[in-house]
This record gives sequence, structure tokens and C-alpha cells, in this order.
Amino acid sequence: MNGVIVVDGEVYPAESACVPALDRGFLYGDSVYEVIRTYSGRPFALREHLDRLQRSASLVMIDLPLPLDELASHIEGALEEVGPGEWYMRVIVTRGCGPIGLDPDLADKPRWVLIILPLPVLPEAYRTEGVAVSMVAISRAGQGAMPMGAKTGNYLTNIMALKKARGRGSFEAIQVDSSGQISEGTTSNIFIVTSGEVHTPPIAAGILDGITRRKVIELCEKASLEVRQEHLRPLDIYAADEVFLTGTLKEVLPVTTVDGKSVGDGLPGPITIRLQKLYSESTAAR
Ligand code: PMP
Repeated sequence: MNGVIVVDGEVYPAESACVPALDRGFLYGDSVYEVIRTYSGRPFALREHLDRLQRSASLVMIDLPLPLDELASHIEGALEEVGPGEWYMRVIVTRGCGPIGLDPDLADKPRWVLIILPLPVLPEAYRTEGVAVSMVAISRAGQGAMPMGAKTGNYLTNIMALKKARGRGSFEAIQVDSSGQISEGTTSNIFIVTSGEVHTPPIAAGILDGITRRKVIELCEKASLEVRQEHLRPLDIYAADEVFLTGTLKEVLPVTTVDGKSVGDGLPGPITIRLQKLYSESTAAR
């Protein structure tokens, strides 16, 4: 089986699931979502993802249409349906359908969708040799940007940033906000290592409070590595000894080229490799 899609509790084959064209998630990106993955067939950090879904929904004033425990049971049930293997899971909650118009009161009732598809796997060379990134002056982050920290369905700025980066031959874009500060990747958080210290932009930079970011910070602390959450600028990235990305699907991914220039000696650095190993141990150990 190639996955299933659950729409408001009804299970469909992945190819045939539909939502109405008047759904506000489709019309306006008026939705919140989470991406969760399995390790050994089990959802990883499910509670953290569902809690973030709840926080995102409340930031954009969407009422979740079902309690988190019920959502978790649907996820478990759908995983049983698709059987063994590694799965990608996307949980989406939209404000629902209604007459055309931005007024949120036009929405009938929130809709929830659960997409379960085979887990896309990154080429192994990305993990062992690292990836290229480009800095792009497009960001939805920054002072006063709304809604700060919510994982909403509206990713157009990230898509534009990624398109620019891909046009320059890079795997990921590093978004630079209007005040010249580094925010994050388009679907990842960024870390750098300078003189043995790990640095990453703070949540106040308007970034997503990444679940992998949190776990990596915890792993650094356990490994007695100093982590500073502070604003970074492009020069900090150019001057770093090591750069890496974190994300549910990317895990800990070394960056070896920034804007066409090598990071350090152009190979994944020792601290990145150590964190990659600690992270994969932590995902295996649950
Ligand atoms: N920032 C953005 C904008 C993202 O879309 C993602 C991916 N969800 C991340 C960071 C990484 O977050 P996580 O570690 O929770 O996957």
C-alpha cells in the first residue's frame, strides 16, 4: 500500500482523497500543520508535534476539531492500516469551508486531514558529504512578522526562497530577514559551530521552534557543548568552522558550501558528525 489520507476521520487511498475547493486552507493557506516521521514504524516525538500543532492553532485562532489524544489514536490507527515500513505523516487543520471572503467567521468548522505516505529518504551522500546552501534575502520572520512561531500552511515566502536557492544549485535556502539577521532554512533550523561553541538563532528571530532543534540543543547540553542562542548575521555563517541544518526529515545535516564557498575545510565538521551520531542514537533508543 502506498499510504492513506484521512479527511475528518474518513480513510481514503492516498490517490483519491479530496478536500473541497472552498476550503480556506486551499484558498488562503488558512491552516496549521505538522510533519512527523516514524522510526522503526513508530511515530517520533508525537506528543511534541501534537503540542506544537495545538500552539500553532491557538496562535492563529483555529479551534482544533478533536482532542489531541483522539488525533493520536487516529494516527496510530492509520499506521496500523498502512503496515510496516517508515512513514511520513502530515497532520493539517484548516479553518474549514465557507463563502469567499477573508473574514474567519465565514468558516463553517475546522477540518482535519492526516496524510501518510512512504517516508522520502535523502541521498546518503547528503549526510556523509554535506549539502550546499544559499543565503536569500526573503523571510517571513523578523520583527512584527505574524504569526510568530506558528507552523501555518502558508509557505509561499519559503517556497520563493527555496526556488532562488535551487536556481543557484543549492539544496536549501538560508533566509535572511529585513534587518539582515539569519532566521532559518525553508524547512529547517540552522546551527553554526565557531571555536568549539554551537550557535543558533533564538526563537525571538521569528523562527519555528523546531523539535529537532530542541533535541539537538539538549544533546549539546548533555555532551557539555556550549550552545548560544543568539542572533546571527551572514558574516557569522561565512566565518563559521561548521554549519548544519536540523529538521524532522533532514535530522542533522552538514552544510559544506555556503553561497559557493566551502565551510571550513569543505568536509562535515567533527561536532556536526558527533551530533549526527548522538541524534541518530536518540531516535533509535526510544
Ligand atoms: N523551520 C521551518 C520553517 C520548518 O518548516 C521546519 C520543518 N518543520 C523546521 C524549521 C524544522 O522543524 P522540525 O525540527 O520540528 O521539523
